[in-house]
Amino acid sequence: MEYISTRGEAPALNFEEVMLTGLASDGGLYVPKVLPVVDKDEMTSWIGLPYDELAFNIMARFVGDCIPREDLKRIVSASYRDFRHSAVAPLKQLGHNEWVLELFHGPTLAFKDFALQLLGRLLDYVLERRQQKVIVLGATSGDTGSAAIEGCRHCDNIDIFILHPHNRVSDVQRRQMTTVLGDNIHNLAIEGNFDDCQAMVKASFSDQAFLPAGRSLVAVNSINWARIMAQIVYYFYASLALGGPAREVSFSVPTGNFGDIFAGYLAKKMGLPIKQLIIATNVNDILHRCLSANDYSQHELVPSLSPSMDIMVSSNFERLLFDLYDRDGKAVAGLMKSAQTGKMVIDEDRLTKARELFSSFSVNDELTCQTIAEVCDTCEYLLDPHSAIGVKAGRECRHDLIVPMVTLATAHPAKFPSAVVKAGQSSEPILPHHMSDLFSKKETFSVLPKDMATLHKFIQDHTSSI
Ligand SMILES: *Cc1c(COP(=O)(O)O)cnc(C)c1O
Repeated sequence: MEYISTRGEAPALNFEEVMLTGLASDGGLYVPKVLPVVDKDEMTSWIGLPYDELAFNIMARFVGDCIPREDLKRIVSASYRDFRHSAVAPLKQLGHNEWVLELFHGPTLAFKDFALQLLGRLLDYVLERRQQKVIVLGATSGDTGSAAIEGCRHCDNIDIFILHPHNRVSDVQRRQMTTVLGDNIHNLAIEGNFDDCQAMVKASFSDQAFLPAGRSLVAVNSINWARIMAQIVYYFYASLALGGPAREVSFSVPTGNFGDIFAGYLAKKMGLPIKQLIIATNVNDILHRCLSANDYSQHELVPSLSPSMDIMVSSNFERLLFDLYDRDGKAVAGLMKSAQTGKMVIDEDRLTKARELFSSFSVNDELTCQTIAEVCDTCEYLLDPHSAIGVKAGRECRHDLIVPMVTLATAHPAKFPSAVVKAGQSSEPILPHHMSDLFSKKETFSVLPKDMATLHKFIQDHTSSI
């Protein structure tokens, strides 16, 4: 399996190289050169498979011959073993033909565990084989950081440094990162906002001269292809559980960076009969504006009750643009350049194609709370604010009541207790049993100024010796 860059200039790479690379050298994102297609008979033979076996069948196509099948199988199984529900991704019914796919039974209670439990293990496996050590560097507004730390905590070949904005993530989110203790885990609270953290990470990737000898940087944000690959699986899992491939299913996906919904788009292109794909955003709605009004301008960030979707730009959207523009890397490079100046205009016929593929809806905080309260009243089910946005968008955008509508429930409600309380649910949602000691555990993190030299010195001083 070969991977190519969305900007057409960088060399083609295999799965292992792509996983270790992050951004392509031309600034683009890697995508499979040819997407594998699964025929109906084979899909039918997958009905009833346990999650990890289904995952292996799908992922093997993307990994190609980079990892022997038996090893891959073992890694995939291990990645989903610690999930606290034996179905891994259980479906719950909210109403007539209306479902949520619970993706929050992993170690950090958000869907990012699906990708990062796997990515940590895959990285460690290939690094061991290459006798190589790397530094994972990332910025987080909450969920990515904890999932990445959980995913890498047992990896001997990885030192992980995660930047979060000091005093600007929720207590649960911070503690999920800072209470994981290990010599290779470094939580850095930066005196700035999330954008400052992100900018420091980006600058570090573009000039890696500060790295200790023999080390390279690996990205674990959603531009990493392996993350997208892992997310394709649960679309198949939900569909097969609800009558697929003989029956169409629709999905509503709370998304900010276009990662999760892009995985759904790929599942559809691989042959899974998906009727509608709904992009559900909060008020930071660049994706909804783009689709509905061809407006991809950057607006000021508005902090919302669904912080994991508070973004200004949507990095994975470039991967869709590549397809919309018939895989013309030059055209995509031009578009992304114009996006930087805030004036990206998509050709009308390409936009029409996008609108055939996706619906979109933007949900503000008030509607989010209303939806949490309504769903709680009607079926005694507690949604987290991100998932509530998905449910609301699904209800607004669905064309009919015949095709099942599945909302991806991306986080456990206990992860965002203040939103749930605001929605009129009197008491705070309770953390699952295995996390009940979160608030009594010891925390370790370092507060650093918003300064590149200080960050780089910290990384140099804290990288494990070879
Ligand atoms: C990260 C995250 C999202 C958005 O994911 P995308 O990669 O932007 O699609 C939604 N909900 C939760 C809870 C998240 O942590």
